[in-house]
Amino acid sequence: MKVLKFGGSSLADHEGFNRIKDIVASDPMRTVVVVSAPGKRYSADNKITDLLYICTAHIRYKVSYDDIWNDIKSRYLNIAQGCGLDVDVESILWDVRSNFTPTVSEEYVVSRGEYLSALLMASHLGYAFVDACDVIHFNFDGTVDYDRTYEDIRNAYEKNGPMVVPGFYGSTPDGKLHLFSRGGSDVTGALVAAALDAQCYENWTDVDGILMADPKIVDNPRTIERITFSELRELSYMGAEVLHEETVFPVLKAHVPLYIKNTTNPSLTGTLVMESFDEENEEEKSRFITGITGKRDYSVLTVTKSRMHEDFSFVRRVLEITEKYQLPIEHIQSSVDSFSLVISSSVLSRTGHVLTEEIRKECNTDDIKVDEGVSLIAVVGRRMVATKGVSGKIFAALGEAGINIRIIEQGSDEINIMIGVMDEDFDDAIRTLYHSFT
Ligand code: ASP
Repeated sequence: MKVLKFGGSSLADHEGFNRIKDIVASDPMRTVVVVSAPGKRYSADNKITDLLYICTAHIRYKVSYDDIWNDIKSRYLNIAQGCGLDVDVESILWDVRSNFTPTVSEEYVVSRGEYLSALLMASHLGYAFVDACDVIHFNFDGTVDYDRTYEDIRNAYEKNGPMVVPGFYGSTPDGKLHLFSRGGSDVTGALVAAALDAQCYENWTDVDGILMADPKIVDNPRTIERITFSELRELSYMGAEVLHEETVFPVLKAHVPLYIKNTTNPSLTGTLVMESFDEENEEEKSRFITGITGKRDYSVLTVTKSRMHEDFSFVRRVLEITEKYQLPIEHIQSSVDSFSLVISSSVLSRTGHVLTEEIRKECNTDDIKVDEGVSLIAVVGRRMVATKGVSGKIFAALGEAGINIRIIEQGSDEINIMIGVMDEDFDDAIRTLYHSFT
């Protein structure tokens, strides 16, 4: 069997619901469906989840939310009507709203988007509705209780057969509702796919697959056909917005292949994500870069002390101070008498001058300086390990384009080369790299 997850943009109106029905009906293996809440129908529209967050705030401050509720209500009524569903949506909505008491939890209100979406989808597909609070279990600390979750998902499938499960929420051991972070229906889908040892996990969205570069920077970037989970992790960490970052772990561990597919263009293969590929296809062999992404606004904090390498505790003492301020270090570079820490500027600025003063005093440095406005770019590709000359090509291309490289680093598994450039060169650098590798 296959597990399918549909994102909000695929569920925005009755046409989306009908498209999903066709997709599910076209393959008898597609027996488990996870849904988000309806998303935007057009760019100025609202996501149901956002409207529900606003409802919660209005309930807290005892402000009327009738208008917002009417918007929400008409979205679901239109879907049910447009799909010709035989469901008493009015009374379901009435039940939900009657639980919106002054003490109602945010989790309850906000999760109703997915709950209602799944109820309607179950009726549309003729599948059983299985509430996420009965099968997705969290520990008290908010982490997933995998054993209980997997057992209950398996039992639910055994008992019900084909089923629809709402994404984004589950319950804690004391029966309270709990949410994943935003976009978390991806994680629900991954858990369900892993629990059922699905043949694959299809994540249906509004793009043709994962793109090689950000379409806001590169015109019409190619879609990545096949990517490994580690490459995907590298790209996502460095800014590519693809899936909720917790999605990868359950399917990776259970060896379930993941597809990213487009609901409005279902015949396209999309992007296949797997642990590894035994054989590279011809198209891949000719291209050793899988994707290019990056993030702006980093600072480089450089600490200088002559004969630093003779002071064995120096680096540790500096890092103890950054640890005390809970600063995530993106990269460390070093030379004979200095080393540099690359840290996100917004995080570093929270510490003001206190951090640099403390390092200067405690570690007896000769100099300490902060350079702002640095961007990090990740060039990711599993085939780089076996290919000579990739870094040469990167530096030549950037050099010819007149772009100065501030930082160079290669990950130890050689699937990632990281380059630091000034923020003003960021877009140009991405475009230059993309065009020299496609
Ligand atoms: N509806 C939730 C959100 O907008 C969860 C999801 O779509 O995955 O974040």
